[in-house]
Amino acid sequence: MRSVAARLLSKVRLGEGGCWEWTAHVKPNGYGQIKVGGRPQYAHRVAYELARGPIPEGLVIDHLCRRRHCVNPSHLEPVTQRTNVLRGASAAARRARQTHCARGHVFDAANTYLARNNTRHCRACARTRTRRRGVSCASA
Ligand SMILES: [Zn+2]
Ligand SMILES: [Zn+2]
Repeated sequence: MRSVAARLLSKVRLGEGGCWEWTAHVKPNGYGQIKVGGRPQYAHRVAYELARGPIPEGLVIDHLCRRRHCVNPSHLEPVTQRTNVLRGASAAARRARQTHCARGHVFDAANTYLARNNTRHCRACARTRTRRRGVSCASA
């Protein structure tokens, strides 16, 4: 049987910024998964422990590269849950400062609505989506 380290490395592809992108199973929450001793484990935690040793109790692994499916131990840092939440919040704050949607429509008062989870959505994009649905319904 191959070692965990060999299995782990065989599922990794070198990505942008030196990230080790997980090419095997990725859970819906965005984290890679690997089976160790028959039990599913988070791939980035396994990678970290192989490279650096056990993760101190009570700490969570934070991705410095903000890519959850990256398992490069040098992109991982054990932090307290609180630090992790604060870092996540600052990412949300960055998103909130965006002035345009992904398609380049401006986020102004007239073109923006808030979804239930408080994320902003672009009305122009929503209209386009509705129109497309209308067309496909009519042609069906
Ligand atoms: Zn990374
Ligand atoms: Zn838009």
